Amino acid sequence: ESVVNRIAAGEVIQRPVSAVKELIENSLDAGSTSINVVVKDGGLKLIQVSDDGHGIRFEDLPILCERHTTSKLSKFEDLQSIQSMGFRGEALASMTYVGHVTVTTITKGQLHGYRVSYRDGVMEHEPKACAAVKGTQIMIENLFYNMTARRKTLQNSADDYPKIVDLLSRFAIHHINVSFSCRKHGAARADVHSVATASRLDAIRSVYGVSVARNLMTIEASDDDPSSSVFKMDGFISNSNYIAKKITMVLFINGRLVDCSSLKRAIEIVYAATLPKASKPFIYMSVMLPPAHVDVNVHPTKREVSLLNQEIIIEKIQSAVESKLRNSNE
Ligand code: ADP
Ligand code: MG
Repeated sequence: ESVVNRIAAGEVIQRPVSAVKELIENSLDAGSTSINVVVKDGGLKLIQVSDDGHGIRFEDLPILCERHTTSKLSKFEDLQSIQSMGFRGEALASMTYVGHVTVTTITKGQLHGYRVSYRDGVMEHEPKACAAVKGTQIMIENLFYNMTARRKTLQNSADDYPKIVDLLSRFAIHHINVSFSCRKHGAARADVHSVATASRLDAIRSVYGVSVARNLMTIEASDDDPSSSVFKMDGFISNSNYIAKKITMVLFINGRLVDCSSLKRAIEIVYAATLPKASKPFIYMSVMLPPAHVDVNVHPTKREVSLLNQEIIIEKIQSAVESKLRNSNE
């Protein structure tokens, strides 16, 4: 049974960056305003995510890492209207089958926190009282220690740290009211360091740099009929002065970080046709759709989404991008 569990867990957590994504989404779900990530050896030695969220109650610790333990889904219908990012109750459990998980947490009004380690879905010992300030820290050590082939493959290729920095950068420019940091273990300098701000452009400037931020334009689109209001999009796109060798597309749909390769391609086509001399674009978009129109029930590691009426939505976004680029070019 444990082999089966490990294989299933290895599917949910495919690489260090997939573990980081799950941990950050949990921290966001817990209402955190500050999320700090520390990574050692591309995440294979250590991934540590600390937040200042609402914490985990003492009585929830024994079952925290059992599969399908979630505090976010009470009935099946909730799947349709789910607002929080996690709902499967599989991420933490999976991590305990492929790594050593230690949770330190304190809930509001408590004098001390608790620390407990997990293996293969169960607590290794009773929670130990410990000092804690606020929120939760989750530490994953020795990821894939029991999956020799996976570990070797990951060790032999470029490590996940740049992917983790990229992930944090994306979260940081969407959740601008949350401060994020990401650093290598022992490093004095953080590679992502964003403070909470009210301005998305400020967040983009601090994460992606001045040369990106100064070449951005706002963009918006929505349904023609405001009463039906099925679709809304807003964001930033780069102008003709922006210089980059490859496209950056940061896409959030209903607050969820996703990829939509057909939308990405569609926007690239508009740039090539409208600003043929411009470089590959930078795009940040936040799209809101009725939850039932977004297929959220895909495999946990898949960032690729499918949307209802995808062609119509892509066309609307394309024409919004096109008219913005034409106006700016006049
Ligand atoms: P899901 O997010 O799908 O519910 P997870 O396995 O990611 O499943 O997490 C299991 C549960 O652990 C969550 O439902 C939540 O109650 C709790 N949890 C995990 N991380 C945190 C955190 N950083 N702060 C507070 N609670 C957390
Ligand atoms: Mg989760």
